[in-house]
Amino acid sequence: MKAHHFLLVCFPVHGHINPSLELAHRLTNLGHHVTFATTIAATRRLTNTTTPHPLLTFAPFSDGFDHETLNPNRTFPQLFSDFKHHGSQSLTKLITSHNEQTPSNPFTFVIYSLLFHWVADVAAALNTPSALLFVQPATLLALYYHYFHGYGDTIPNQKLPGLPLLTEKDMPSLLSPTSPHSAILPFLKQQIELLDQKSQSKVLINSFDALEEQTVKAIDGLKMIPIGPLISIGKSNGKNGSNPLFESENYMEWLNSKAKSSVVYVSFGSVSVLQSKQAEEIMKALSGHTFLWVKIDEEAQDKENGKIVRWCRQDEVLNHPSVGCFMSHCGWNSTIEGMAVGVPLVAFPLQIDQATNAKLVEDVWKIGVRVAANSEGFVEREEIKRCLDLIMGSEGNERRDEIVGNAKKWKDLATKAIGQHGSSTFNLKAFVEDIDNSD
Ligand code: UDP
Repeated sequence: MKAHHFLLVCFPVHGHINPSLELAHRLTNLGHHVTFATTIAATRRLTNTTTPHPLLTFAPFSDGFDHETLNPNRTFPQLFSDFKHHGSQSLTKLITSHNEQTPSNPFTFVIYSLLFHWVADVAAALNTPSALLFVQPATLLALYYHYFHGYGDTIPNQKLPGLPLLTEKDMPSLLSPTSPHSAILPFLKQQIELLDQKSQSKVLINSFDALEEQTVKAIDGLKMIPIGPLISIGKSNGKNGSNPLFESENYMEWLNSKAKSSVVYVSFGSVSVLQSKQAEEIMKALSGHTFLWVKIDEEAQDKENGKIVRWCRQDEVLNHPSVGCFMSHCGWNSTIEGMAVGVPLVAFPLQIDQATNAKLVEDVWKIGVRVAANSEGFVEREEIKRCLDLIMGSEGNERRDEIVGNAKKWKDLATKAIGQHGSSTFNLKAFVEDIDNSD
């Protein structure tokens, strides 16, 4: 296998950076050179926290907002068109000048994360092949594919290839016209149209064969290649794009002092902020439990029965023996990170793809239980408590035991998939060999 030089271009949020960085590390472990490109603002955070590797280089590009990309005053459409406008120019410059200055080691392949489809045009204009890294499960790719191939709003309650039977409440919120995230839809449409231009477009997916076996084969027009979970199971080395500015110091010592499986870890990811009434309701529901809660909008503080931190190294926390349950918004990274270490979930979806992920968690893989919201979208204390008590309850409850047993089963399968002879390891190598063959 010849050594490649991959350019990995990543949308500048944790949910894209973490799996992309892990992919970068796997490619370097196979002996390939990787240049990791994201915005200047995001790179500044990253290089502070990333373990150096001789084959991994960081090359920031400008999106026109070099101090803070996710400025709240920019609407989604502005954000996306700025990325495309400034990003196309600076990335074109980055690739051309690198290739001119280092003719012995030019970029041979470009991988871009979801929502950065314009990168494929930049790569094509410079005669460099490219592929998408899809950072949600294959089920979501199948769902978007059907959505833009004529099914639109009729998807709920229909059996479609690669999808479980979904109801309205299982649909991704970004497909709903009333969601602020629906502004992402035109960009998603452009991505699907781009994939449609080739027969069997290859898409790398942060999933693994056993997890979505039928789904990855369900769409004739796509070659989905599961290479996940894109996390380093049990081997955290601080390279996951953390945010050291906000990280509290002593939560690991605190976890060390707790009994096995006695702590509920609560996190709604790196972007979502709960409405204060909902946060208060969760706090009340946690009253009978010991908890560690990441609240990105609050200062770290100790509570009688728990701890609030502004940020933590989630991979280390999930892998800690004291953690017995993960109450999660079901962002895809959090979901697959929890699954990969066998921690059962209380699924508390908020937006984007999270409701669909929660459906998979509860009904397909059966590794957790999902809170039910009332007609106003609010989740009451009793309902949260019901779910927490079920997962944290003692052995002997059939449903709880089934969930805990499945969590262990999927942990083993996830670990196997990225092992030396695992399916994801094989799929990644085959993907690279295919590039060699098409040279
Ligand atoms: N994360 C972390 N520490 C925190 C909160 C989140 O390391 O305190 C990481 C988490 O491990 C995951 C990513 O941030 O890799 C969040 O991605 P996800 O898809 O779960 O949710 P999003 O933030 O995109 O909503």
